[in-house]
Amino acid sequence: MSERLECSVAEDLIPLYIGEDVSAGTALWLEQHLADCVRCRSVLDETGGVRSELVLPEPRSSEQSLEWELIQKYRGRNRARGWMMVLTFLLLLLLPALTLALTLTQ
Ligand SMILES: [Zn+2]
Repeated sequence: MSERLECSVAEDLIPLYIGEDVSAGTALWLEQHLADCVRCRSVLDETGGVRSELVLPEPRSSEQSLEWELIQKYRGRNRARGWMMVLTFLLLLLLPALTLALTLTQ
């Protein structure tokens, strides 16, 4: 991978890395990249700063706003996936019960 591409991938991954939403292999790759890339380390520092300010209702700058959006979007996606799992689980639980109830009433 070219250095530039690595950096853009690393920058995309940093918010997820901070939120511990990356796999172990991805985290390892990112840590290795951060170890010898000053630019991405500074991005990590900046993003880390944004994360500690997440309790604030409004992000301060447009750059932070983008990070904020990314984090919110990712969290939202995760939450939706969680609900889908709950619904699937409930359906799997309810279906045999419903089938049984229908057989019994007939
Ligand atoms: Zn880099």
